[in-house]
Amino acid sequence: MVKVVKFGGSSLASAEQFQKVGAIIRADEARKYVVPSAPGKRNAKDTKVTDMLYECYSIAEAGKEFAGKLGKIKDRYDSIIKGLDLELSLDEEFKKIAANFKEHAGVDYAASRGEYLNGIIMANYLGYDFIDAAEVIFFDENGTFLADKTNEVLKKRLEDSECAVIPGFYGAKESGEVHTFSRGGSDITGSIVARAVRATIYENWTDVSGFLVSDPRIIDNPAVIHTITYKELRELSYMGAGVLHEDAIFPVRKEGIPINIRNTNAPQDPGTMIVESTCHQPEYTITGIAGLRDFVAVNVDKDMMNSEV
Ligand code: ASP
Repeated sequence: MVKVVKFGGSSLASAEQFQKVGAIIRADEARKYVVPSAPGKRNAKDTKVTDMLYECYSIAEAGKEFAGKLGKIKDRYDSIIKGLDLELSLDEEFKKIAANFKEHAGVDYAASRGEYLNGIIMANYLGYDFIDAAEVIFFDENGTFLADKTNEVLKKRLEDSECAVIPGFYGAKESGEVHTFSRGGSDITGSIVARAVRATIYENWTDVSGFLVSDPRIIDNPAVIHTITYKELRELSYMGAGVLHEDAIFPVRKEGIPINIRNTNAPQDPGTMIVESTCHQPEYTITGIAGLRDFVAVNVDKDMMNSEV
């Protein structure tokens, strides 16, 4: 049994959150491959490290002084390292990052450092191998994800590693230039890793106990969806029910690996299982309801369409 576990930014926003994550991973030895996001918000007014990096890099790109902004980002990581009591220093990493910012290494490189540094901390904390995503996740020069090449290289690399941390959100072009997925893309990395190791399950740990049957801003206390098919999920995410990046289902779906959405702050909750099909009569006739203003979908069903032009 092999489980791939991805933790979102709010699950890794502070040392306390890291401790919850550590307890979850240690509770099940099948949780061998870990994909972290960058530290997210610790409270409603906080800023995600990824957003801090984008801002800092735009200052660097404009040729202005960015040391203060970069220092604030380093403080976020240092407080996690200190809170976890780790013997780890990111001083050298931050020197490299500052030099690369000065040389305008690119906005994707800048944003990717959030996951990269969090991965280093996570690997140190767990005693797992650290694998830089730039060495195993590939894009072509136009930024299109290269699924087959990635799967081949990643599979080989992970065969040599019993337990590893692979940072989410980024990879590299064939030229070596770092490239990221769109925002929320660590979900995709988790799915790619799950495919490469042919995981039993892909656990996606976040800050909610799964998908809800309706929008909690409109309906009070909606129930959690226990089981949903990939197809139903596509439909719901399309309409704006965003818990999981919509491209995250493709790699695992190919291999028939279920995704389990779980809550880091309530690990006892079973969360939502995303599966190819439910073989028995579903619990409810309607799985969930989502909507988008000014959006209409028209479905046309007609028998014998294949015999017509
Ligand atoms: N850290 C990136 C973002 O904020 C990617 C992710 O969290 O999945 O979008």
